[in-house]
Amino acid sequence: MATKQYKQLGCLDVDPKAGCAFQVRAETEAEMLQQVALHAKQCHKLESLPPEMAAKVKAAIKTVSVTV
Ligand SMILES: [Zn+2]
Repeated sequence: MATKQYKQLGCLDVDPKAGCAFQVRAETEAEMLQQVALHAKQCHKLESLPPEMAAKVKAAIKTVSVTV
């Protein structure tokens, strides 16, 4: 058994008013931002993340340890 560090982020962490329970977990911040951008596009009709939202996203990212 080993533990792995993951970046984790939930839509609610970024925008509680959105009422969206989407959560993403990725190994790197770049991978996470990619998934977040995809979700924002598909579910929130955002073609791209506005800079202030990208900043919020980065601030809300948590690092979690997962046993694999
Ligand atoms: Zn969402």
